Amino acid sequence: DPRIHGIKTKIGVVPNFPKPGIMFQDITPLLLDPKAFKDAIDLFVERFKDNNISVVAGIEARGFIFGPPIALAIGAKFVPLRKPRKLPGEVIFEEYVLEYGSDCLEMHLGAVEPGERVLVVDDLIATGGTLCAAMNLLERVGAVVVECACLIELPELKGRGRLNGKPLYVLVEYQ
Ligand code: IMP
Repeated sequence: DPRIHGIKTKIGVVPNFPKPGIMFQDITPLLLDPKAFKDAIDLFVERFKDNNISVVAGIEARGFIFGPPIALAIGAKFVPLRKPRKLPGEVIFEEYVLEYGSDCLEMHLGAVEPGERVLVVDDLIATGGTLCAAMNLLERVGAVVVECACLIELPELKGRGRLNGKPLYVLVEYQ
């Protein structure tokens, strides 16, 4: 798709951020270009509009940028999966292991009903740990995770292999 190239040129690569040795993929230039940003959202919408998806679950923080416009366009509700102690209501949580230490995602109980069809959205998949935790959280409340969607995949880290065979749709790969 010719739109992909334009999207790719709007993703910045920042060496040694936030720590030495990390090549940080920065999506903020994309947000400054309404055409490229819209192209990215449109590609997701074209892919997911006829899938009977009733929930878009976005992962904090950059899943909150891309998830809501997709949700509005496909007529689904948006559910934020948040870092600990941000949601005021009763939550279900899923902890996951990082390279150093651990992290946790929380979701409001009752936000997603058993049997609902869910799309999980984030900006980037690296090791896949974050998306895996998000899927576990949703499946624990009886939801059906249809697919995951990210702008960027770092294929070298083989995160796709941690998604238990769940399909993953990405716009851009970064080697
Ligand atoms: P994973 O759990 O190892 O797949 O890491 C993915 C999570 O880390 C996502 O929520 C990303 O937003 C974040 N992340 C990891 N590397 C980058 C990066 O280079 N740019 C932006 N976000 C990143």
